[in-house]
Amino acid sequence: MMQDGTDTMRERVADIRRRIALACQRAGRDIATVRLIAVTKTHDAATVADVLAAGVTDVGENRVQEADAKIAALAAHQPAAVWHLIGHLQRNKARRAALLFTTIHSIDSVDLAAAVARHAAAAGRTLDILLQVNVSGEASKEGFDLQHWHDEPARLAAFLGAARSIASLTGTRIIGMMTIAPLNADPEAARPVFRSLRSLRDVVRSQAPEICWDELSMGMTDDFEIAIEEGATMVRIGRALFGARPAPHGGG
Ligand SMILES: *Cc1c(COP(=O)(O)O)cnc(C)c1O
Repeated sequence: MMQDGTDTMRERVADIRRRIALACQRAGRDIATVRLIAVTKTHDAATVADVLAAGVTDVGENRVQEADAKIAALAAHQPAAVWHLIGHLQRNKARRAALLFTTIHSIDSVDLAAAVARHAAAAGRTLDILLQVNVSGEASKEGFDLQHWHDEPARLAAFLGAARSIASLTGTRIIGMMTIAPLNADPEAARPVFRSLRSLRDVVRSQAPEICWDELSMGMTDDFEIAIEEGATMVRIGRALFGARPAPHGGG
């Protein structure tokens, strides 16, 4: 029998789930604490439908405009998807994002959070948000700047101040933090980055226990197993499910 796209997708999803389970086993973690987010950027709505049919419930997109069309195309799809925005969000797209997504991983300022919250609240919604942080020392990365946070109490204090302001907004609810490890041929190079986010989480949880810090969104195709070993609760996986993406044409 020939395989159609759905069967192939089922196998890929099963393979990723096996790898997630093995990483959980190594770390002594319950597999139910790790959520697989299928990153469908650049892929069409039919591909999203395939991955939903294969039992994945969470879908990640990195551009509002691209997601908008897919979310519309799949509005009546069963089972319904939970849509995550994982890419950088521009202020002028905050309103649309607040209406489209369930969860936004890329909140990197109080202003952006306030814009999203205002639009979400106006629509009677409450969005789950994660604060994107840069712990890696790579200057180009987006997110709250928490490089060397361990040695720079002022940086940590500024972040906690921002988090408290964001936590006071109506329309959004902080559920944790997200980071992107620098690109590196060796996935082990990401381990200290993931470990740093985990230990930052423990510190902010002790200093701001009124905020929910449960979720750690970290780990992609090349390094998700390491991220799970270091405490990831959400892994964002594109290429391992859908193959290589076409090269981007600039923009962000
Ligand atoms: C594209 C993307 C991913 C998925 O990357 P893969 O290497 O394809 O698994 C994860 N997170 C973010 C923020 C992305 O933009």
